[in-house]
Amino acid sequence: MRSFLRLVAGFFILASQQSHSDQYSPFKSQVEGFILAGASQGVTVDMSDFNVIMAERLPGTVVGLCVPQENIVLVNKQYWDTADAIHREALVWHELGHCKLNRIHVTDTAFGHAVSLMYPAINSVDDEEWYKAHRKEYIEELFAPQPPERLFHDTRFGIITN
Ligand SMILES: [Zn+2]
Repeated sequence: MRSFLRLVAGFFILASQQSHSDQYSPFKSQVEGFILAGASQGVTVDMSDFNVIMAERLPGTVVGLCVPQENIVLVNKQYWDTADAIHREALVWHELGHCKLNRIHVTDTAFGHAVSLMYPAINSVDDEEWYKAHRKEYIEELFAPQPPERLFHDTRFGIITN
Protein backbone atom coordinates (compact mmCIF):
# COMPACT_ATOMS: atom_id res chain seq x y z
CA MET A 1 0.00 0.00 0.00
CA ARG A 2 2.82 2.38 0.85
CA SER A 3 4.48 1.99 -2.54
CA PHE A 4 1.12 2.47 -4.20
CA LEU A 5 0.61 5.77 -2.38
CA ARG A 6 4.08 6.84 -3.47
CA LEU A 7 3.09 5.99 -7.03
CA VAL A 8 0.01 8.17 -6.73
CA ALA A 9 2.03 10.97 -5.17
CA GLY A 10 4.38 10.78 -8.14
CA PHE A 11 1.54 11.29 -10.55
CA PHE A 12 0.34 14.24 -8.53
CA ILE A 13 3.72 15.91 -8.85
CA LEU A 14 3.46 15.53 -12.63
CA ALA A 15 -0.04 16.98 -12.43
CA SER A 16 1.04 20.10 -10.61
CA GLN A 17 3.44 20.87 -13.42
CA GLN A 18 0.61 21.23 -15.93
CA SER A 19 -0.22 24.77 -16.94
CA HIS A 20 -3.69 26.01 -16.12
CA SER A 21 -4.70 26.39 -19.78
CA ASP A 22 -4.15 22.64 -20.19
CA GLN A 23 -6.57 21.82 -17.39
CA TYR A 24 -8.33 18.51 -18.18
CA SER A 25 -6.61 18.18 -21.53
CA PRO A 26 -7.03 15.67 -23.20
CA PHE A 27 -10.14 14.99 -21.09
CA LYS A 28 -11.75 18.36 -21.68
CA SER A 29 -14.77 17.16 -23.67
CA GLN A 30 -15.56 14.39 -21.14
CA VAL A 31 -15.20 16.76 -18.16
CA GLU A 32 -17.28 19.48 -19.80
CA GLY A 33 -19.83 16.83 -20.78
CA PHE A 34 -20.02 15.74 -17.14
CA ILE A 35 -20.64 19.33 -16.00
CA LEU A 36 -23.37 19.76 -18.64
CA ALA A 37 -24.96 16.41 -17.79
CA GLY A 38 -25.04 17.46 -14.12
CA ALA A 39 -26.60 20.79 -15.02
CA SER A 40 -29.29 18.95 -17.00
CA GLN A 41 -30.19 17.19 -13.74
CA GLY A 42 -30.01 20.31 -11.58
CA VAL A 43 -26.63 19.35 -10.11
CA THR A 44 -23.83 21.91 -10.08
CA VAL A 45 -20.41 20.29 -10.41
CA ASP A 46 -17.59 22.40 -9.03
CA MET A 47 -14.43 21.46 -10.92
CA SER A 48 -12.21 24.21 -9.53
CA ASP A 49 -9.03 22.87 -7.92
CA PHE A 50 -9.67 19.51 -9.56
CA ASN A 51 -7.91 17.78 -12.42
CA VAL A 52 -7.92 14.67 -14.57
CA ILE A 53 -4.45 13.33 -15.26
CA MET A 54 -3.03 10.83 -17.74
CA ALA A 55 -1.09 8.11 -15.93
CA GLU A 56 1.46 6.04 -17.81
CA ARG A 57 0.72 3.11 -15.52
CA LEU A 58 -1.87 2.15 -12.94
CA PRO A 59 -1.79 -1.04 -10.83
CA GLY A 60 -3.09 -4.27 -12.37
CA THR A 61 -6.18 -3.90 -14.54
CA VAL A 62 -7.08 -0.47 -13.15
CA VAL A 63 -7.93 1.91 -15.99
CA GLY A 64 -9.14 4.82 -13.86
CA LEU A 65 -8.68 5.98 -10.30
CA CYS A 66 -10.27 8.69 -8.19
CA VAL A 67 -7.90 10.07 -5.56
CA PRO A 68 -10.13 12.33 -3.46
CA GLN A 69 -7.30 13.31 -1.12
CA GLU A 70 -5.48 14.88 -4.06
CA ASN A 71 -8.53 16.14 -5.97
CA ILE A 72 -7.52 14.19 -9.04
CA VAL A 73 -8.68 11.42 -11.31
CA LEU A 74 -5.99 9.30 -12.93
CA VAL A 75 -6.61 7.65 -16.31
CA ASN A 76 -4.55 4.77 -17.67
CA LYS A 77 -2.93 6.03 -20.89
CA GLN A 78 -2.71 2.63 -22.52
CA TYR A 79 -6.43 2.09 -22.08
CA TRP A 80 -7.32 5.63 -23.12
CA ASP A 81 -5.36 5.43 -26.33
CA THR A 82 -7.36 2.42 -27.51
CA ALA A 83 -10.78 3.38 -26.09
CA ASP A 84 -13.62 4.69 -28.26
CA ALA A 85 -15.70 7.76 -27.45
CA ILE A 86 -18.32 6.04 -25.33
CA HIS A 87 -15.76 4.18 -23.21
CA ARG A 88 -13.78 7.37 -22.71
CA GLU A 89 -16.91 9.15 -21.54
CA ALA A 90 -18.00 6.25 -19.31
CA LEU A 91 -14.53 6.04 -17.74
CA VAL A 92 -14.15 9.74 -16.91
CA TRP A 93 -17.76 10.03 -15.75
CA HIS A 94 -17.39 6.93 -13.54
CA GLU A 95 -14.35 8.39 -11.79
CA LEU A 96 -15.95 11.82 -11.45
CA GLY A 97 -18.97 9.99 -10.00
CA HIS A 98 -16.66 8.82 -7.21
CA CYS A 99 -14.71 12.04 -6.72
CA LYS A 100 -17.37 14.70 -7.31
CA LEU A 101 -20.63 12.91 -6.42
CA ASN A 102 -19.34 10.55 -3.67
CA ARG A 103 -20.90 7.63 -5.53
CA ILE A 104 -19.92 4.09 -4.58
CA HIS A 105 -20.08 1.13 -6.96
CA VAL A 106 -23.39 -0.24 -8.22
CA THR A 107 -23.27 -3.81 -9.50
CA ASP A 108 -26.93 -4.17 -10.49
CA THR A 109 -27.64 -5.29 -14.03
CA ALA A 110 -30.75 -5.46 -16.18
CA PHE A 111 -31.06 -7.41 -19.44
CA GLY A 112 -27.35 -8.18 -19.15
CA HIS A 113 -26.33 -4.52 -18.93
CA ALA A 114 -25.09 -2.45 -16.03
CA VAL A 115 -27.84 -0.14 -14.80
CA SER A 116 -25.32 2.47 -13.64
CA LEU A 117 -22.13 4.06 -14.88
CA MET A 118 -20.89 3.27 -11.36
CA TYR A 119 -20.61 -0.40 -12.29
CA PRO A 120 -17.02 -1.29 -11.29
CA ALA A 121 -15.85 -2.61 -14.67
CA ILE A 122 -15.63 -0.52 -17.82
CA ASN A 123 -16.19 -3.54 -20.05
CA SER A 124 -19.81 -3.48 -18.84
CA VAL A 125 -20.18 -0.76 -21.48
CA ASP A 126 -19.84 -3.32 -24.21
CA ASP A 127 -22.65 -2.34 -26.48
CA GLU A 128 -22.48 1.02 -28.23
CA GLU A 129 -26.10 0.81 -29.42
CA TRP A 130 -27.31 0.14 -25.89
CA TYR A 131 -25.23 2.93 -24.40
CA LYS A 132 -26.45 5.47 -26.89
CA ALA A 133 -30.07 4.36 -26.47
CA HIS A 134 -29.86 4.56 -22.67
CA ARG A 135 -27.39 7.40 -22.17
CA LYS A 136 -30.07 9.71 -20.81
CA GLU A 137 -31.06 7.13 -18.18
CA TYR A 138 -27.43 6.65 -17.21
CA ILE A 139 -27.15 10.40 -16.72
CA GLU A 140 -30.32 10.50 -14.63
CA GLU A 141 -29.07 7.61 -12.49
CA LEU A 142 -25.61 9.11 -12.08
CA PHE A 143 -26.77 12.48 -10.78
CA ALA A 144 -29.86 11.31 -8.87
CA PRO A 145 -29.89 11.93 -5.10
CA GLN A 146 -28.64 8.78 -3.36
CA PRO A 147 -29.49 7.33 0.05
CA PRO A 148 -26.59 7.59 2.57
CA GLU A 149 -25.74 3.89 2.29
CA ARG A 150 -24.94 4.40 -1.39
CA LEU A 151 -22.40 7.17 -0.80
CA PHE A 152 -18.78 7.24 0.35
CA HIS A 153 -18.34 8.54 3.86
CA ASP A 154 -14.58 8.40 3.89
CA THR A 155 -11.74 8.95 1.47
CA ARG A 156 -11.41 5.49 -0.04
CA PHE A 157 -10.03 5.25 -3.52
CA GLY A 158 -12.58 4.70 -6.25
CA ILE A 159 -11.36 2.59 -9.12
CA ILE A 160 -12.56 1.07 -12.31
CA THR A 161 -10.98 -1.95 -13.96
CA ASN A 162 -10.90 -3.18 -17.52
ZN1 LIG B 1 -15.11 2.83 -9.49
